[in-house]
Amino acid sequence: MRWISRFSEGSAADRARLGGKGAGLAEMTRAGLPVPPGFTITTDACLSYLRDGQLAEGLEGEVRAALAEVEGATGKGFGDARNPLLVSVRSGAAISMPGMMDTVLNLGLTEATCEGLAKKTGRRRFALDARRRFIQMYGNVVSHLDLSSFEEVLEETKARAGVREDRELDEGHLEGLIAAYLRLFRELSGHDFPDDPMDQLFGAIEAVFKSWDNPRAKVYRRVNDIPEDMGTAVNVQAMAFGNMGPTSATGVLFTRNPNTGGIGVYGEYLTNAQGEDVVAGIRTPRPMAEMEQEIPQAYAELTEVAARLEHHYRDMQDIEFTIEEGRVYLLQTRAGKRSPRAAVNVAVSLVEEGVITRQEALTRITPKDISGILHRAIDPEAQGVVLATGLPASPGAASGMVVFDADEAESRGRSGESVILVRPETAPDDIHGIVEARGVLTSRGGMTSHAAIVARGMGKPCVVGCDAVRVDVAQGVMTVAGRTLREGEIITIDGTTGRVFEGQVATVEPDLGPDVMTLLAWADEARELGVRANADTPEDARRARELGAEGVGLCRTEHMFMASDRLPVMREMILSDTEAERRDALGRLLPMQEEDFYGILGAMAGYPTTIRLLDPPLHEFLPRIGELDVEVALLRERGKEASGEYREAAALLRRARALQEANPMLGFRGCRLGILYPEIYEMQARAIFRAAGRLIAEGVRAEPEVMIPLVGMPKELQILSDLVVRVHGEVSKELGVEIPLSVGTMIEVPRAALIAGRIAETAAFFSFGTNDLTQTTFGFSRDDAEGKFLPAYLEQGVLEENPFASVDQEGVGRLMEIATREGRETRPELKVGICGEHGGDPDSIAFCDRIGLNYVSCSPYRVPIARLAAARATLERARG
Ligand code: ADP
Ligand code: MG
Ligand code: MG
Repeated sequence: MRWISRFSEGSAADRARLGGKGAGLAEMTRAGLPVPPGFTITTDACLSYLRDGQLAEGLEGEVRAALAEVEGATGKGFGDARNPLLVSVRSGAAISMPGMMDTVLNLGLTEATCEGLAKKTGRRRFALDARRRFIQMYGNVVSHLDLSSFEEVLEETKARAGVREDRELDEGHLEGLIAAYLRLFRELSGHDFPDDPMDQLFGAIEAVFKSWDNPRAKVYRRVNDIPEDMGTAVNVQAMAFGNMGPTSATGVLFTRNPNTGGIGVYGEYLTNAQGEDVVAGIRTPRPMAEMEQEIPQAYAELTEVAARLEHHYRDMQDIEFTIEEGRVYLLQTRAGKRSPRAAVNVAVSLVEEGVITRQEALTRITPKDISGILHRAIDPEAQGVVLATGLPASPGAASGMVVFDADEAESRGRSGESVILVRPETAPDDIHGIVEARGVLTSRGGMTSHAAIVARGMGKPCVVGCDAVRVDVAQGVMTVAGRTLREGEIITIDGTTGRVFEGQVATVEPDLGPDVMTLLAWADEARELGVRANADTPEDARRARELGAEGVGLCRTEHMFMASDRLPVMREMILSDTEAERRDALGRLLPMQEEDFYGILGAMAGYPTTIRLLDPPLHEFLPRIGELDVEVALLRERGKEASGEYREAAALLRRARALQEANPMLGFRGCRLGILYPEIYEMQARAIFRAAGRLIAEGVRAEPEVMIPLVGMPKELQILSDLVVRVHGEVSKELGVEIPLSVGTMIEVPRAALIAGRIAETAAFFSFGTNDLTQTTFGFSRDDAEGKFLPAYLEQGVLEENPFASVDQEGVGRLMEIATREGRETRPELKVGICGEHGGDPDSIAFCDRIGLNYVSCSPYRVPIARLAAARATLERARG
């Protein structure tokens, strides 16, 4: 046969021709499982029909021949009034697609065959019930008649009969209902209901073909990138009756629990019912576990079938079944949809059962699954009211009172209240509020807005770009979905899906759990790329170790100067007019820095910690000029010009003005500070080596790596490296211990990448600071780009992707490749890593793996994701 494949002929490999449903039915038939006999009309036949507007030549004859075989197999006749064969006609494309024609059940029922079925089964009520269902279904899905008209007639009949449920209707009522349905069909469609089974069959087949082109299906394909030229298959299959009494049933089962991955069949069934009843929700289905008592043999058989199918497909299955008077029939099987947690648990246990390999498990689990597990989630059982949906910027769920101001968020958060910071958008000055908030919601901004990036870095739930929320900061209110919420009212946000809920919605704890640990341990074996974390505090470093980081790839030292006990000293240092004054202030900062490094190096014992010397421009440590202006003016007004307070404020203002820059991103920062004020870097190097030396003396393996930022010229690095080496010598001598020495550089301006061969003469390692490298390569300042033109660029397709989220492989990536290659030509053992935010992005990680980096470094929360992504990248590369 050309257009048809019998269930006994096809297999899972024929998905494109048979559709997913047809391929599954064929595969189950071949495996000897109890599938009602039938055949699949191929997608080619559908495409031919859509092209020519008529059935393909030969199709009709093939359908009749195949149907005759089904008659033979069942011992029934299609249209035979004494022993009628009934079939279902089911659509099924290669990719499952809601929006196409639904299934028609009980096809083949006519006045005569209905009576025959009644006699043959001795169940007249069953036969009449099947017929009225068929007329309604056919009218709806084949003839596109309005379902509610049928429902109205049904309701009238029930009212007249004085019953509440369909199943209480007796034979007399059903006869009346069928007559009314047939009248309604004629009225709505303008012709009689087809009373010839073959007319019914071909009517249904053509309706399935046509449904490929209905508007719903087209929209679905466009949204999901499904090609237009696949077509749908049609499955014609003998009916199994789940509505033949108390030992008949229909249901859906999963071979494991799809929420947890737990072993054992899981699902629902309805006794004395047909397929569509389970979905329709007329009666509440019962959990599979109850079937064990009610229809024990069927339960046992289904359990066994579930295990066989899972083993056969080497994955968890979602199975449709029907039980006809105790006999089990299988009607569909497919890979079951599952939660991220279940995905991991299923994959790990399939490995343990010897069904799949570790590598297969690693390729089945996506980085997204891991991130779904790593965060608090909305309790799947909870019934929250969704107020609005924004962009899911940082995963996890959090509840708290809405607060519109960062200071307020900070003070309420500190006093132990749960706060959600709600802003039109956030700015760098809101950081203290974000730190103390449980989550962040903004009405503006995209996935790479300030709020999104900061929240993601901190592992806090965040929803951005939620246009439906209007925030009035001045009035202290937000309006959403017709409601007005004042400061202090409770909302819940879900940064995994972007939803915003009213009130408190229950959430569940994140916990890696043993299976994720196992999977990640396999990932560690498979990957070649190292994974480190960006960590500025001992807590971050400890958390990073717990999550599997093999070192710190970036420890930023500037935050250490921001704490309230240090900032005044830092400012004193900046205000100093002479080197001696500066050295004095630095002398007071030294022990504080030393303690910081002692904590971090200790937490990373046995693993390297890359510490970056001071990077940001000094004005970032001073109050803003605007604020200082006001302060000075106020003091002057109050006649305090002679006071120390005034002098101090005025000095700060003068210095802030002097440090003001036209373009701070390209200004006096990074190693440029170190060249002009070597005493700053000297103090930091001393603090690092002292902390390391002390730890080593205590028997702790501290491994500092000193990193110089923003180098563009070999000489910059040489000068500063010499300085670090000198301090290392001094401290080693002073403490009398041997301290590891490694000095390297960030590669974050194109010049550094282009002359990497020369820079590697001095550098022991490179670390790509891809945030700055992206800014300097594109000539974009990130805040301006993301705030002003980047969204339009993405929309118009000027750029395919935000280069701050995923490495621009063509441009920035090329520089990385050049730097890595040429750096290693000079120094083959050169260690190369990446510490930009891209280090946690799976696509960027795969790129780093391809160009041979030694490690990626990302925020501690992303370490498990990076471990998996790195393993998948290595496996992918091995496959070629
Ligand atoms: P969907 O893709 O919407 O699930 P299906 O073609 O799988 O559509 O069928 C809808 C319902 O009808 C399912 O519950 C299915 O098990 C049931 N069904 C389909 N064919 C038959 C059949 N031959 N006998 C009994 N029930 C059937
Ligand atoms: Mg189905
Ligand atoms: Mg930088």
